[in-house]
Amino acid sequence: MSGAPRPLAVLFDRDGTLVVDVPYNGDPWRVRPMPAAAPALRMLRAAGIPTGVLTNQSGVGRGLITRADADAVNAEVDRLLGPFRTIRVCPHSPDDGCPCRKPRPGMVLDAARELGVPPERTAVVGDIGADVDAAAAAGAAAVLVPTAVTRAAEINRAPVVRRTLVEAVEHLLSGRE
Ligand SMILES: [Mg+2]
Ligand SMILES: [Zn+2]
Repeated sequence: MSGAPRPLAVLFDRDGTLVVDVPYNGDPWRVRPMPAAAPALRMLRAAGIPTGVLTNQSGVGRGLITRADADAVNAEVDRLLGPFRTIRVCPHSPDDGCPCRKPRPGMVLDAARELGVPPERTAVVGDIGADVDAAAAAGAAAVLVPTAVTRAAEINRAPVVRRTLVEAVEHLLSGRE
């Protein structure tokens, strides 16, 4: 990927990427940053690159948590790892057919518009194929940082894979300015 331009904004998946995945978490007390999340974000902020969060929260649409619960968890993520320039939530269930649930591109496109950068100059960092696919559908770059539960097929077809968030950000910052 040498020769690719540096992104003008970097959008992170939340669960399994920035924070430890607690399925359908509605409790801010259970928010735990992933290793390397804080230093990776610090590197981007030092480079003046805005950051955001894009998170599927189907627990809202399924009635397992409320939107207020999801917002409270996001506020804790922002307190621990922010400030993020945008935090976007898809509250829908998979059956809703919404345009925002990853792997669809809605949240990537909306975040890029909000930050005033072209989607093609935006990068998405996530832990599963849906994050990579949402980026691709929006025309954005993607870096997959797998966890123990990421499927091998999703790792194999990701355009760029790095072991940690710091390595993912190092890759993005190595693009030409
Ligand atoms: Mg995830
Ligand atoms: Zn949605």
